Amino acid sequence: MMENGGLQQTAAGWIRRATRVAVLTGAGISAESGIPTFRDNNGLWRNFRAEDLATPQAFARDPRLVWEWYNWRRSLIAQAEPNAGHQALVALEQTKPGFTLITQNVDGLHARAGSRDPLLLHGDIWTLRCTRCGVAVEDHRANLDPLPPVCGCGAMQRPGVVWFGESLPAEVWRKAEQAARSAEVLLVVGTSALVYPAAGLIQVAQQAGAKTIEVNAAETPVSGQVDCSLRGRSGEILPRLLE
Ligand code: NAD
Repeated sequence: MMENGGLQQTAAGWIRRATRVAVLTGAGISAESGIPTFRDNNGLWRNFRAEDLATPQAFARDPRLVWEWYNWRRSLIAQAEPNAGHQALVALEQTKPGFTLITQNVDGLHARAGSRDPLLLHGDIWTLRCTRCGVAVEDHRANLDPLPPVCGCGAMQRPGVVWFGESLPAEVWRKAEQAARSAEVLLVVGTSALVYPAAGLIQVAQQAGAKTIEVNAAETPVSGQVDCSLRGRSGEILPRLLE
């Protein structure tokens, strides 16, 4: 059994030699920026139940409560800055002609760090979408007031994110699957790999012959399936792995 150091060298070699690299990130990459994840000890779901807040049913039942929660998350994210993990991925992108960043995060930190065109599988917390006419607008105010916000057409707006039980944006998903299928290396960072279909991209890449590398602070259901699993914080591991 190799220690993290040896594994890291092996994984770094795979990445260095590859032309087509895909990266799948989750809430863990933003943890060191101070944004709570969903499923860790201090994760959001310790204090709130997902089914009360992040479902179409919850929004239909109590839109104001759901919006208050999103307002709270928006204010946390507004104070956060991208960390060394986000930045290492920006540097990697500049060295790879075939680079695709796929994220489950809605916080916008990849784009703020300088990643060019991240595929937002679960949408964007800074987008508001009308529940009637469907028009989407960007709004970066940390605290929306009054709640719920209202579209120009008079109907209520909702957060522009994908809730449990909803479909992913079709074109974004198509591009993500395509990137996973054609990658020589898939790097999986800071995701519990429990939310599907996003986590299915790992298998898509593996079946197409990619090397898969996980970077996570804890063991996950895919730790035993990937080619190399590196244990630790992404803000520390990624800069070393990708230097
Ligand atoms: P998750 O909360 O289920 O899992 C977070 C994972 O990150 C865990 O496996 C944990 O071990 C790992 N982790 C924690 N700190 C880390 C660190 N410093 N370095 C490396 N790994 C670390 O999150 P998920 O897998 O992204 O899935 C849940 C859903 O949560 C997604 O749909 C996403 O949209 C949403 N979400 C997004 C944000 C955000 O935008 N920042 C925050 C919370 C949840």
